[in-house]
Amino acid sequence: MKNIAVIGTGYVGLVTGTCFAETGNNVICVDIDKEKVERLKNGEVPIYEPHLDVLFERNIKQKRLQFTTDLASAIKDAEIIFLALPTPPGEDGSADLSYVLGVAKDLGKLITEYKVIIDKSTVPVGTADKVTAAIKAETDVPFAVVSNPEFLREGYAVDDFMNPDRVIIGTEDEKAKIVMKELYQPFIRDGHPLIFMDEKSAELTKYAANAFLATKITFMNEVANFCEIVGADVDKVREGMGSDTRIGHRFLYPGIGFGGSCFPKDVSALMKSGLDNNFDFSIIDAVLNVNKKQRIKLLDKILDYFGDIKGKKFALWGLSFKPDTDDIREAPALYLIDELINRGAEVVAFDPEGMDNVKKLLGDKISYVENQYDALDGADALLIATEWSVFKNPDFNLIKSKLNSPVIFDGRNIFNLSDIQEKGVYYSSIGRQTIL
Ligand code: NAD
Repeated sequence: MKNIAVIGTGYVGLVTGTCFAETGNNVICVDIDKEKVERLKNGEVPIYEPHLDVLFERNIKQKRLQFTTDLASAIKDAEIIFLALPTPPGEDGSADLSYVLGVAKDLGKLITEYKVIIDKSTVPVGTADKVTAAIKAETDVPFAVVSNPEFLREGYAVDDFMNPDRVIIGTEDEKAKIVMKELYQPFIRDGHPLIFMDEKSAELTKYAANAFLATKITFMNEVANFCEIVGADVDKVREGMGSDTRIGHRFLYPGIGFGGSCFPKDVSALMKSGLDNNFDFSIIDAVLNVNKKQRIKLLDKILDYFGDIKGKKFALWGLSFKPDTDDIREAPALYLIDELINRGAEVVAFDPEGMDNVKKLLGDKISYVENQYDALDGADALLIATEWSVFKNPDFNLIKSKLNSPVIFDGRNIFNLSDIQEKGVYYSSIGRQTIL
């Protein structure tokens, strides 16, 4: 059992805190957002993340999981302090380290005995040194800074945390290595490796992994776009490519680009790190440019079909950047909405979990409905931007009866072409033949 403080109680911090409590530790989570902490104290999970609620409730009941806004009291008895703070993109694409370094400075003023301070936020190479310097500027008390990047995926966060493919630990502090090994022991019993390395390599591992995945998706999106031009079927190409064990089937599904709180900002930050070091990350540059065009790919198709879309009404299924999350940060749907309303079109949207967040961002620029079929009433076409399971087997007769004309633009290829052929709809997807 260890006493742990987790600073920042967002998607990463809350999952980290809850999962460490689940493995028998005493965890206190700190956040500056008073309203969020109040909700957490009242037993409410403020985000949508499957399976989190069960663990959350159990550990609160067992008094292993607590919440506070007071950093000083939270870290007083904690031997281990996790930083799960935001690292949003600055205007030049670099990661904004003000949250991480601000808290580091506060910790420097507060610590009175040896602490292991672990960075879980995604940060550029060299941040562990900056955190160390920020703390050292305030205190002579010994401490260790560890880089322990997080690889969880929203929507699968609990399972990813409890059964990680690997855990990366970046530190050269021998005492901290032992602490980290003990802490993660329950998560690696199935043989998943705990990989020790220096801080810089750990920091870069996270960016390199995300940039590689973003590149894989983007490569497939380009292949899909080319399929449309030459009349090939991306489903077949994907199957053929993915069967090669060197390539594998995952992350080969084309669509309207990657979004979310991680890939876009991490890829941009890696690009900026390259520039800062006079290194031209040209592959990353290409990924960013292709993705920018891809996330409004449906717009080209819509304009080709309708010409002028002023006054047209579009039903939009899916707002979150991917299924099983309420996270809408950098969601391709938002870019598509922007393009549509700028051209005078009307958008009626449905998303199983993302609507509250979009309402906060866009207000009444678009309309919202509580049922996916209600979005279709009098709409000129159905647009699909997120592959939620609930969209995958719809009532096509109802869709046709509600739409002005049976037209579907699918940015996530959620229907099989062979199945859709007999449905009597115009169906345009990514990298595949259009069904007329
Ligand atoms: P988030 O925005 O959901 O949560 C961050 C939390 O930190 C917020 O609740 C905010 O109120 C709080 N906060 C801000 N300043 C604070 C302060 N001074 N003291 C205490 N709390 C403070 O962010 P997130 O999605 O959890 O991401 C956190 C980090 O983890 C980022 O660096 C991100 O890149 C990385 N990461 C995210 C994911 C993911 O899927 N979301 C996965 C892996 C890594």
